[in-house]
Amino acid sequence: MINTTNHHPDENMLIEFSAGTLETAASICVSAHLHFCSRCRTKLLRLDQVGSQIMSQSEPMEVADNAFDQVMEKIDSADLVSSSKTSSATSASTSINTSDEGFPYSVKKLINTSLISKNWKRLSSSVDVARFKTGQEDFEVALHKICAGGKTPKHGHEGLEYTVVLKGSFSDENAVYREGDFLMRQPGDVHQPMGAQNGECICLSALSAPIVPTSPLGFLMKPWLRINPM
Ligand SMILES: [Zn+2]
Repeated sequence: MINTTNHHPDENMLIEFSAGTLETAASICVSAHLHFCSRCRTKLLRLDQVGSQIMSQSEPMEVADNAFDQVMEKIDSADLVSSSKTSSATSASTSINTSDEGFPYSVKKLINTSLISKNWKRLSSSVDVARFKTGQEDFEVALHKICAGGKTPKHGHEGLEYTVVLKGSFSDENAVYREGDFLMRQPGDVHQPMGAQNGECICLSALSAPIVPTSPLGFLMKPWLRINPM
């Protein structure tokens, strides 16, 4: 695959991802980005090698006898929650195409096990959302779809937002973001994303606080003004 990504997670995020200490929502987005980005995969490989060298030089640590069982129990219970919630797929016109071949494996797995509904939910005339249940208390993890040429309202951020473009492209005042690009919005950032004219754009996103409208007509953005970590 040709590496077309121009926007990457920073070095510290990759170090934490490699060490397994990056929190879940950010890890989901980094892992999706890695699918598209050979540059970050190479960096990660080096970090993993350094990490395993450090591990091999350190003293062995005592681990509880049932540690492995505890991890497996957590994974099993997460699967049970999700499979009971994903059986209500109906309307073909708004359903999510789960066989989208360009999607990273981690995203397909997330869609198959954690998606609350297989149907898109309308946020505005240009944007649909589909939320995941990931066991997160601090981040809403979701797919967002912007229609071709669709404008989102201009807004500010009060928390962190990680975004990975999975399909198509969008732009804002600063740049054009294409498949695989990884973006991190910080508190205080203001922008107005717009879908490309040549087709819909689907992004994976993790948001820690609702966005804040910058227009006096911001009350029209009501569906946007809350997040649902779950
Ligand atoms: Zn990268």
